[in-house]
Order: sequence, then C-alpha cells, then structure tokens
Amino acid sequence: ALTAGIVGLPNVGKSTLFNAITKAGVEAANYPFATIDPNVGVVEVPDYRLDRLTELVVPKKTVPTTFEFTDIAGIVKGASKGEGLGNKFLANIRQVDAICHVVRCFDNDNIIHVTGKVDPLSDIETINLELILADLESVEKRYTRVAKIARTKDKDALIEAAILENIISTLEKGESARTIDFSEEEEKYVQQLFLLTTKPVLYVANVAEDEVANAENNEYVKLVRDFAENEKSEVVVVCAQIEEEIAELEDDEKEMFLEDLGIAESGLDKLIRSTYSLLGLATYFTAGVQEVRAWTFKKGMKAPQAAGVIHSDFERGFIRAETVSFDDLNKYENMQVAKEAGRVRSEGKEYIVQDGDVMLFRFNV
Ligand code: GDP
Repeated sequence: ALTAGIVGLPNVGKSTLFNAITKAGVEAANYPFATIDPNVGVVEVPDYRLDRLTELVVPKKTVPTTFEFTDIAGIVKGASKGEGLGNKFLANIRQVDAICHVVRCFDNDNIIHVTGKVDPLSDIETINLELILADLESVEKRYTRVAKIARTKDKDALIEAAILENIISTLEKGESARTIDFSEEEEKYVQQLFLLTTKPVLYVANVAEDEVANAENNEYVKLVRDFAENEKSEVVVVCAQIEEEIAELEDDEKEMFLEDLGIAESGLDKLIRSTYSLLGLATYFTAGVQEVRAWTFKKGMKAPQAAGVIHSDFERGFIRAETVSFDDLNKYENMQVAKEAGRVRSEGKEYIVQDGDVMLFRFNV
C-alpha cells in the first residue's frame, strides 16, 4: 500500500498531528491485515459518496477504504552527512510515496522553537536542504558513471547525462528536483534515480486554534502558500491541537464542534483527502446488499488491475465489469433505473477505471 510520511522539525506539532491520526484511525480489530507498527496510523478516507450509496442500497454493512500515514523519526539537521539517526531519517523518507511536511505557523512563547523564532520558510528550507544534499550526492555519483559512457556517443547515456546535468544545476541552486518539468520520456530516467526531492509534498501549515477559521489572513500561511506554489506543491491548513480533540469525538459531536469553530471540514479530513489525491489515488465502489464498500486504486489502472485490489482471483479471471458512475447512480437512485436509462456499461479489459465508478465484476474462478 502507498503511504505518506509525516516530517517536520521538532516542536512544530508532528506528534500532536500523528496522535490525532491514530486516535481518529481505524479500530485495529476491524483491519486484521493492517500494519501493526506504532509509527503507522491507518485512517478511513472520508467520502460523502459512500454515505449516499449506503442510503440508497441499505446494505448489511459499509466499509470505507483506508490509507496509511507514517510518522518519520530521526534527526533532521545534518542528516545528509550524518550517520545513525540522520541516515535513518533519510532512509525512512526513501520508503514513503509522498511527504506531509508539517510547518509551524503558530506563535506561542511557551513552546520553544528550535531556531528561536517562528519562521516557516527557514524551517522548510532546513529540511529540504538535507534532502537536496542527499540527492545531490547520489546524482553526482551517477553522473560520473553515465558521463563516461556518454563519451562513447551511446544514445541512452547522452540523454541521461543531460537530465542529470539539469538536476544537478537545480539542486545546486538549493531547489528540489520536483521543480523541474520533465517530459514523459525523461520521467522514465528520473524514476530510476529514486530521488527524495521528486516525491510529492504537501505542506501542512499548523496554525493556532484561534486562527483556523480565517487562516488565509495568517502571514505565515501566506508565506508557505507562495513557497509551495513555486514548487508545484500543495498546502493544507490544520490546527493539530484541535484535531487531536476532534479525533476523540463521535460524528455528530464533531459536526457541532466544527460548526462552532466556523469551519466546514476538519483539517484532518482535508489532509487525508489531499494526500490521497497527491498520491494519485482514487476510489471505486462495490455496492451490494451485503456490503457497500470503497476501494482504493491508482489512477490509470485498467479494470482487471482495479479488480485485483479486491482479490487476485478477480484480476486473473476477469471477464467484464458492470459499471455505472456514482453521479448516475446518485441521480437514478437504483441500479435497475440506471440500467433502463442506459447508464450501466459493460466494460472490458481495456477500460480505465474512473474515480467514483460503481462496479460489479464478472470473473471466472
Ligand atoms: P513535534 O516535536 O513536532 O512532534 O511537536 P509536538 O506535537 O510535540 O508539539 C510541540 C508543542 O506544540 C506541544 O506542546 C504541543 O501541544 C504544541 N502544539 C502542537 N500543535 C499546536 C497547535 O496547533 N497550536 C498550539 N497552540 N500549540 C500546538
């Protein structure tokens, strides 16, 4: 399963946010196959469409899809030249598919900031710099080898050498490799490099409790937004402390609490949804009277592969998939009516599954 790692300097609210995630997270008993790792928090992906399907189908049970966050431990500063804990930090980041970078955007004189003052951009740079230096080292090493082969006019090596030069000059400017626009062909070479600074990043601006309702006026948040835009990254605003409180509430209490705060959606829910989409993940549904369920697939997957998310037998024996979009089912309210309206398609092996598809797989055993 794909996972997002939570990183940040000390005292920015990482543990508070991670606590919120584990508290809000799924009951381990319901997910016997979920990782039993204290650094991993498994959350349900909030989805109004699942609620609506439950209302329409009235199944015996409803199962949301889940998603994992990993708390990344280790020492940040000096990690790229470090041994031990610093190396562990980089190794942990290497294993995640996306990065949630928590940035302190709240003032509080009682909570010491590691560098003496709240300065989100310098915080971001401190972490990014370690990743940039680590990438620089590995790309330069590779370049030495590839440039040698390129001298023989080897076509492949020439292409790669040019890409590596571009990456090196970007990293040397102190910028992450994700700021570079690679062509589809170049992308293939880049993927082989397993860089840290090409991983998608979501900056999590952690604001004070009295700032969440109108966080867009927060100067720190503005700085983070500008930085992220430049870097083609996204920003989610949360108040970690409030999220930790909300995580303990029942659904209806939670709604009231959010209303009091003047916000429509909890920061954690926003974080989950944004990270999910940052990873290129999407959801399809199965909707039977026994069970209405959401399933995670990677955008671009064809029907058999998506069926394989449920069970490998579904992929191997795939015949076709009766498919209707959520919007159509929502509109016609039941499968039969949607069918009569010609909105239920029989899709084959080449069909690229769309977010929100409601599917019934036909397969050989
Ligand atoms: P970590 O070192 O990044 O894991 O940071 P912690 O989660 O331990 O938070 C450091 C301190 O900041 C703790 O005392 C938290 O209670 C406090 N803190 C975290 N998030 C918030 C927040 O949103 N608002 C305020 N006022 N304090 C926070």
